[in-house]
Amino acid sequence: MSFREFGLRAELLRAVDTQGYTDPTPVQSEAIPAILDERDVLAGAQTGTGKTAAFALPILQLLSDGHSRRTPRVLVLAPTRELAAQVGDSFQIYGRNLSLRTTIVFGGVGIQPQIDKLRRGIDVLVATPGRLLDLAGRKVADLSQVEILVLDEADRMLDMGFIHDIKRIMRLLPRERQNLLFSATYPDSVQDLANSLLHNPVQIQIARRNTAAESVTQIVHHVARDQKRALLSHLIQTEDWSQVLVFTRTKHGANRLAKQLVSDGIEAEAIHGNKSQSARTRALTGFKAGRVRALIATDIASRGIDIDQLPHVVNFDLPNIPEDYVHRIGRTGRAGSEGTARSLVSTEEGQFLRDIERLLRKDIPVQDVDFPRRSSPADRPQSANQRHSRQPQGNRSGGGRSGGGSRSGGGGRSGGSTGSRTSGAASQAGRPQRRRPQPQR
Ligand code: AMP
Repeated sequence: MSFREFGLRAELLRAVDTQGYTDPTPVQSEAIPAILDERDVLAGAQTGTGKTAAFALPILQLLSDGHSRRTPRVLVLAPTRELAAQVGDSFQIYGRNLSLRTTIVFGGVGIQPQIDKLRRGIDVLVATPGRLLDLAGRKVADLSQVEILVLDEADRMLDMGFIHDIKRIMRLLPRERQNLLFSATYPDSVQDLANSLLHNPVQIQIARRNTAAESVTQIVHHVARDQKRALLSHLIQTEDWSQVLVFTRTKHGANRLAKQLVSDGIEAEAIHGNKSQSARTRALTGFKAGRVRALIATDIASRGIDIDQLPHVVNFDLPNIPEDYVHRIGRTGRAGSEGTARSLVSTEEGQFLRDIERLLRKDIPVQDVDFPRRSSPADRPQSANQRHSRQPQGNRSGGGRSGGGSRSGGGGRSGGSTGSRTSGAASQAGRPQRRRPQPQR
């Protein structure tokens, strides 16, 4: 199937062509016709599958067929500033040949420029829930004419406690509207939201439920907690990684690790919710430009970070919510490229690992790495780090392998399609292929 077959207008096809997209991705093949048919859509698609264009392109087409008003006709809700900014950018990129106006609003930055833009009149509003309610409370965001509502990364919005904000926003929207809900995972809370929001939706399931992207090679390194930094520095330096996104569980941990890596001679920056928007943007820009080699992020700050062909993700700490693991490693192996996700697992994190493996329905291969241990005051007698660096938790597939981290077999998963319009091929092929690399930012 080609983009032409959707009946998209020439202006949109030109924009798609400029992006270097030759074929629609599976989520695009399914969602674009359904959205053009003005159906509600429930789509299970991870970031990295091309889901943004899957809703932005048909929405732009529907908008360009109608009449511009001063108030927004489309509302996209996103959990974080980063994702809102990226979705807004996508609308601008795909809509570059049309005269439609997109505005992005999120918290943490001055509100006045956003008020000014809203007053000038817009077609598409991309927003995080809190700032949108603020603007609505000041009577500058009028949502009474919204024709299409998109909830992007709905699972994350619920994880972040936005359910009440979402319900308040729903009350500001007209009852008659088209609803599109995108979510990487389907906990019951998302299902409940979908039931209350969507009318007879077309259901699309791209990445199988709660499974990780197939183009990501996953590796576990068992290592004592106080040796994680030494192992990470060793991996970055000996394997000559030019770009790695590292996850920590806490903001404090992110700051500390960034400082430690810098003292090891690795350019590193932390990005998390306590940092100002300008510091986050600066860190992200430096990372994308290659000035920052290691970006250390907490889960929330990392949402929606869209970096083409990010080669390495490291879980410095394992997340205690298994679905976060899937989100984290979805930052690599994107846009058809291969990526590696390594998890540094201390004995204390054994249960987290087991929970993640239960969710993935497979064991993650273990790899031992010989690296220079650092003595630290926290070292216990019996060199706990040595003991723990080797499979402390029973059988693990691939244990003791020393190669470059071979792909896990991971067969036998039963998936969990949520709907009738399930894309079979998409389970491994859900990722976009580019004609040529075209980083967008
Ligand atoms: P998303 O899942 O929306 O975050 O998109 C992931 C990446 O895929 C983005 O960098 C897009 O620019 C890219 N992309 C989207 N659609 C296509 C396509 N049909 N072909 C190639 N790349 C695409």
